[in-house]
Amino acid sequence: MQTNFTLAQLADPNIADADAILRNCVHCGFCTATCPTYVTLGNELDSPRGRIYLIKDMLENDRPADAKVTKHIDRCLSCLSCMSTCPSGVHYMHLVDHARSHIERTYRRPFLNTLIRNLLTLILPYRNRFAAATRLAKFGKPFAPMLEKINSLKPLGAMLRLAPGKIS
Ligand code: SF4
Ligand code: SF4
Repeated sequence: MQTNFTLAQLADPNIADADAILRNCVHCGFCTATCPTYVTLGNELDSPRGRIYLIKDMLENDRPADAKVTKHIDRCLSCLSCMSTCPSGVHYMHLVDHARSHIERTYRRPFLNTLIRNLLTLILPYRNRFAAATRLAKFGKPFAPMLEKINSLKPLGAMLRLAPGKIS
């Protein structure tokens, strides 16, 4: 893939790294077949190739991340299945990390989104907290369908739905 970063941009080692990764992509699209988000949603922007275009455009134009780019990058599961099918050895893993760091620096997330993300940061990496949250989730589970109807609370509803126990 042709890139057009300026020399000033390439002086930043993170941009130089992203540039080297982007240049390896030949747009073949083999990666789309093994990307779970593309297979599920069928949207090119939710495929590795689509995300690569979004990242290139954002970084090359030195643009702050917007809601659209953030949505499609957030949807990436970082499963790295795309890397195993890429014939050009594109290091998508590092590229998406650069994109995520750019998003964190330049995009102001909606309040509830930030709150849920901070909550997950405080719970998910800790086994005991995670176990306690899973046990407590059964009390919130009956509210899952209601929360899923409110756009900003959808992720919370989806998490409660996946928690052990039945929805009464
Ligand atoms: S890491 Fe997984 S979800 Fe993300 S683009 Fe690659 S295959 Fe798709
Ligand atoms: S398989 Fe590799 S080279 Fe082909 S579009 Fe995907 S990332 Fe680019």
